[in-house]
Amino acid sequence: MVKLYNTLTRKKEVFKPLKEEVGIYTCGPTVYEYAHVGNLRAYLFEDILKRTLLYNKYRVKHVMNITDVGHLTSDEDTGEDKIEKSAREKGKTAWEIAEYYTEAFKKDIKKLNILSPDVYIKATETIEEQIDLVKLLEEKGFTYQTSDGIYFDTSKLENYGEMANLEKIKAGKRVEMGEKRNPTDFALWKFSRPEEKRQMEWESPWGIGFPGWHTECVVMAKKCLGIPFDIHCGGIDHIEVHHPNEIAQSEAAFGENLAKIWMHGEFLLLKEGRMGKSEGNAVTVSNLEEEGFSPLSYRYLVLNAHYRSKLTFSSEALLAAQSSLNKLKERVREIKTEKTEVSSPYKEEFLRAINNDLNTPEALAVVWKVLKDKELRNEEKYNLLLSFDQVLGLDLEKEEEIPENIERLAKEREKARKSGDFKKADEIRKEIQNSGYEVEDTKKGYKIKKI
Ligand code: AMP
Ligand code: ZN
Repeated sequence: MVKLYNTLTRKKEVFKPLKEEVGIYTCGPTVYEYAHVGNLRAYLFEDILKRTLLYNKYRVKHVMNITDVGHLTSDEDTGEDKIEKSAREKGKTAWEIAEYYTEAFKKDIKKLNILSPDVYIKATETIEEQIDLVKLLEEKGFTYQTSDGIYFDTSKLENYGEMANLEKIKAGKRVEMGEKRNPTDFALWKFSRPEEKRQMEWESPWGIGFPGWHTECVVMAKKCLGIPFDIHCGGIDHIEVHHPNEIAQSEAAFGENLAKIWMHGEFLLLKEGRMGKSEGNAVTVSNLEEEGFSPLSYRYLVLNAHYRSKLTFSSEALLAAQSSLNKLKERVREIKTEKTEVSSPYKEEFLRAINNDLNTPEALAVVWKVLKDKELRNEEKYNLLLSFDQVLGLDLEKEEEIPENIERLAKEREKARKSGDFKKADEIRKEIQNSGYEVEDTKKGYKIKKI
């Protein structure tokens, strides 16, 4: 029995799939920059969700969109299109920017062992369907036109924003009204401004322009999964604007919500506050690697916190995660035996944790408990951990690749040692240590380990 927290009902619910195949839609990256580890925390939580469902033997169809147009620098439909802005700043075309950062995103999620979605769909692939949706909303009387676009009138929908804390939005936020009728109204179609010289723009019944970000997701989700589908996910920032606006369009146009369950991952923070591409403090997967961290140690760090609690990122926390992961992998190496099916109460304990709204910290605790249990045979331990790793995705069995330069130094040291030049051998050992590795001499020769 899988229980998931539904932001819509503000309760943990027993998951009951609508069809044989579970449909999941996850709001994907806006491809104007490299994803930062904060963004990637959202995709990691969604990966755990998908892996948990697969582990429970559900069939899953996971759709992720690529936002390659229409996401403006403010979520309230003001400012410049993020992709067009990046293209202008980097001297590339908007299409090149989108293509480049989409590929970079795919590489990043692979490094973090995030299972690839079953379907990737780009916003620019569905412009016609988006225009059709706006037409339908217009026919049903939910839209109005201003000098800069076609807007959705949220006052026309009785239960608009039931997911969000609207009082907080109204009281706490200064909304740029422009010609909007209500603070929560949002753009469905924006007109290109002649002075902007947009590269991505299309003809429409209302004039040349581009779709609103919230419209894109409704169309792509419906196209790939049909509605209603099972689970819609995103980061917690989507609770107040993006997701209520998706729901509003679906209810107005089709008379029903897009999805049954809406799930949101909490933010990754820095000690000084929010991590963001625009805050200039973004850490990327490549930055982690440059600092000598394996991307999977970041995965371990994320798993050690529940997806609905805040997590503060720091190099100390990452170092601790790296050391735990290395220890874990080393233990798995030591107990390696034949692969076989094992049954054990620990399997139920692990399932209870993960099926309880994806409680990964508890699931990790079960992993360590298995390793410490003196009653268990190595074969049981090994096979239990491999099984758990289907959900955790920490590559527990995969040998750490030793970098080429370390291999070369180790060989040189061996040569020096054999020829009796112990001073040189010692110097090389220190050099290897400074790079974070240890050489151990065994009867069968030397072994290199990560410190
Ligand atoms: P974007 O590429 O800006 O559209 O964002 C992609 C995803 O990352 C969205 O689901 C956001 O909610 C999420 N996100 C952005 N910043 C953070 C953060 N600091 N921590 C966790 N998730 C985030
Ligand atoms: Zn979305």
